Order: sequence, then C-alpha cells, then structure tokens
Amino acid sequence: MARYTGPACRQCRRQGIKLFLKGERCFGAKCAVERRSYAPGDHGQRRRKTSEFGAQLREKQKARSTYGVLEQQFRKHFEEAERRTGITGENLLQILECRLDNVVYRLGLAESRRQARQLVRHGHFALNGRKTNIPSALVRPGDAVAVLPGSRDTEYFKTAREALSKKSVPTWLELDPEQFTARVAALPTRQQIETNINEALVVEFYSR
Ligand code: SF4
Repeated sequence: MARYTGPACRQCRRQGIKLFLKGERCFGAKCAVERRSYAPGDHGQRRRKTSEFGAQLREKQKARSTYGVLEQQFRKHFEEAERRTGITGENLLQILECRLDNVVYRLGLAESRRQARQLVRHGHFALNGRKTNIPSALVRPGDAVAVLPGSRDTEYFKTAREALSKKSVPTWLELDPEQFTARVAALPTRQQIETNINEALVVEFYSR
C-alpha cells in the first residue's frame, strides 16, 4: 500500500504551518517550522503571491499531508464524500476521520497518524473482532476497535496505556483503557473534528 515516505517536516514547512506529523517532537524546540519558518528548497525564502488556485491546492495538500493520504486515495475519499448526502466538505472530513489509522490516533494509542498507520499495518488491531491491517478501513457507528490480545502486553502498549490518562478522546469515540477496546459511538460532526483545514477550499479545488 503506497504512502508518502519523504521527510514529514518538509510537508509542514511547505504549508507554512505545523501539521503535527511527528508526535512529541512537534511540541518542542526541534520542530522544523520553529527553526526554519520558510518553505523548503533553494527558493523557499522568496516572497510569492498566492493565486486562488494556489490557495485551493495548498488546502488540499494540507488535508492530504495531515491525514497521510496519497492523491489517488484522497480522490477516492472525495468521490465517496460527493456520493453521500449532506455537505461534501464535511462528508470528506468525516470520511478522513473514520479511517482506522486516524481512529487509533484519536484514541491516543499513537503519537501521530504516521505511527498509527504503522501500528495498524503491523497487525496490532482488530475491527469488529477480526484482525485488520488496512489503515484506510472506514469505521461505522457501533464498530468495535481493539488492540489484539497478543499485542497488549508488549512494551509499546504498556507505555501507551500509562500515557492514556493524559490524553483526551473525542466524544464520538468511547475508549476502555483497561481492556484496550473502543467503540464508535457515532459519526463525527464537523464541530467534533478538531482541524484547521478549510474543507470548502478542497471542494473548490476538485470542482474546477
Ligand atoms: Fe511538522 Fe512536527 Fe516536523 Fe514540526 S516537528 S515540522 S510540526 S512534523
């Protein structure tokens, strides 16, 4: 399954904002945006006017980088959002939030979506009782997500359990930290999705 394998910090510098792709490091002085707050590359420090198209493209790339999705998959998510009833932009964010890797991240079981994706790929999770290693699998209301019994006693998950008390879980997810199980209570509403993505610009980009 294809994924972006380049430097995560480069994506943040390109966007000019922190996308929090690396967990702990993003909150410290080592963050690349803190140290070099200009775009990467030889001409990164040039001033540039942003066109309407440029702003739409930037926003779409920001959403892709934030959720760690490549273009082809992102477009599929967008097409699915268009098919659903309601506002396309909000549907798109809802779909991105319901990806299994994002759910693992939102539950606080990974420091970043990148790490969550890796944990899913390495087969540490079950969706509705079945082992799943597909980060793009979409959860639905009533679904159960669980850390597999064989993984619960690993050093990683022991440490993760201790850190869970300091993290907050969005209200559309219900986590049982002792059992390492979670339930999807409902689909997230726009208000429940914590993000700085302007989804209307993403829709405009694909509607040109
Ligand atoms: Fe982005 Fe985190 Fe790297 Fe900072 S440390 S540039 S927020 S990925």
